[in-house]
Amino acid sequence: FLTGKTAVVTGSNSGIGLGVAHQLAAAGADIVLNSFTDNKEDHALADELAKQHGVTVRYIKADMSKGDECRALIEKAGKCDILVNNAGIQHVAPIQDFPSDKWDAIIAINLSSAFHTTAAALPKMREAGWGRIVNIASAHGLTASPYKSAYVSAKHGVVGLTKVTGLETAREAITCNAVCPGYVLTPLVEAQIPDTMKEYKMGRDEVIEKVMLERQPSKEFVTVEQLGDTVVFLCSDAAAQITGTTISVDGGWTAL
Ligand code: NAD
Repeated sequence: FLTGKTAVVTGSNSGIGLGVAHQLAAAGADIVLNSFTDNKEDHALADELAKQHGVTVRYIKADMSKGDECRALIEKAGKCDILVNNAGIQHVAPIQDFPSDKWDAIIAINLSSAFHTTAAALPKMREAGWGRIVNIASAHGLTASPYKSAYVSAKHGVVGLTKVTGLETAREAITCNAVCPGYVLTPLVEAQIPDTMKEYKMGRDEVIEKVMLERQPSKEFVTVEQLGDTVVFLCSDAAAQITGTTISVDGGWTAL
């Protein structure tokens, strides 16, 4: 049902972004994949996605830590009917040891990039008379954990930006929502395991069960397909009156 629509997914050469791109392509949307690299593998991913789903897929390099590159991504995409702000990084450390450059990078990539892409995409959506903005926030957009000051701050900010965008577009056929995943086993989560092991003085399995899935009552990781299908739902007519809000896909985390 998304045939003829173009979806731009930031940070989509791995993990959740790639999973979301797959489900949107399966629903018929043309896709713009993005990351800050420009490797053969990035373009191969685009070719593979196009072949698998019979849609047009382009890979456009843009560094989401830089405002002008965020805006340039949307310009280069041409059309942007669906915008999924997904690019994100993580760093785990107590506040007093938290490196300032990591704080700045996390705020830039996880929060400010969504402001810049949204600002560039809204005129296109208004011209097309239809649009969907989905911000991939986190359970950490609604709750907190120790040692993740920048991430939790950025994700709470994304939820705030989502509400404002929903209000500013409320009288138009444009919606903006945030999806708040619990733990998904992607490269980002995999990369947190060694630091968390150090922080809690635990082994790998213990960190997964007692730290990561401790907060997730289902005791199961969320899958990228489930998140992709949630984004597809938010693009459907059934979701036309869902705007400025959050949808948790977290195995019960935020119910605790
Ligand atoms: P990931 O590391 O697999 O993917 C992150 C993506 O962002 C990659 O494609 C990477 O290339 C891209 N990226 C990083 N820096 C970038 C930059 N400067 N410019 C452009 N792209 C950049 O991680 P993921 O788990 O798939 O995370 C995707 C999003 O989902 C993030 O916003 C993350 O905070 C959020 N999230 C993840 C989980 C989880 O458990 N994995 C839970 C909640 C929310």
